[in-house]
Amino acid sequence: MATFNFASIGTIKSCYQEKFGIPRQPRLETEALSELRLLPPYNDPHTLREIEQFSHLWLMFIFHQTQPSGWKPLVRPPRLGGNKRIGVFASRSTFRPNPLGMSAVELVAVCHKNNTPSLLLRGCDLLNGTPIVDIKPYIPYSDSIPQAKAGFAPAAPEVLFEVQFTAEAQQHCQQREQALHQQTGDSQLNLQKLIVQILQLDPRPSYQQQVGDRIYAMRLYNFDLKWRYCENGIILVLELC
Ligand code: SAM
Repeated sequence: MATFNFASIGTIKSCYQEKFGIPRQPRLETEALSELRLLPPYNDPHTLREIEQFSHLWLMFIFHQTQPSGWKPLVRPPRLGGNKRIGVFASRSTFRPNPLGMSAVELVAVCHKNNTPSLLLRGCDLLNGTPIVDIKPYIPYSDSIPQAKAGFAPAAPEVLFEVQFTAEAQQHCQQREQALHQQTGDSQLNLQKLIVQILQLDPRPSYQQQVGDRIYAMRLYNFDLKWRYCENGIILVLELC
């Protein structure tokens, strides 16, 4: 069997500090800015020449956090309720023979800080620190197939929840947003909108989907976002601490 050795060409800096809560596909949230930092020798500015001509890019990356768990021939996609098993190659599971991911994301800008180029991106479904192994321009005439059949995932997941904030969470949100504008340099970040976009997709595994007192949390940027599920399809954000 032929084997191939790849080096990462860069690393993603994103707001997602753990797997739980990351949207299950790219561009399901449109608010968070991610940065792809190129590593030597790929950080030679020549590698990016003319890339700003493209509005979207394909990122090829390593599912580095799930890689140690290996792969399985059958997987249970969350989209099918977590009950039905399908072949790994009929899925987007992270548990693959070669743990390669691919995401089409928006290119916002090419940045040159301290002579080191990086890409500012939106719509990334990637854990902070994800190793990137390649970047390619997205080419609509070839990459977009509007009449394609998409099996069990024919359209974006339906939004089944309304996300509300307690008064305290609303206040935390405004404070955190201001701090993040300073820390990340992303003055356009609308933190409340980002949280709504993430939570309305319902990050819970399908076997946990009941209403109750249980408090859920995910690590976003440098804080814990906490929420719970109420009656009538309401998600209540409790705090950002
Ligand atoms: N668009 C991608 C693809 O098809 O290659 C992602 C599909 S996969 C189901 C998306 C999930 O991968 C995210 O919700 C997140 O939980 C997980 N993920 C993101 N970055 C990861 C990483 N570096 N290691 C392991 N899992 C990761």
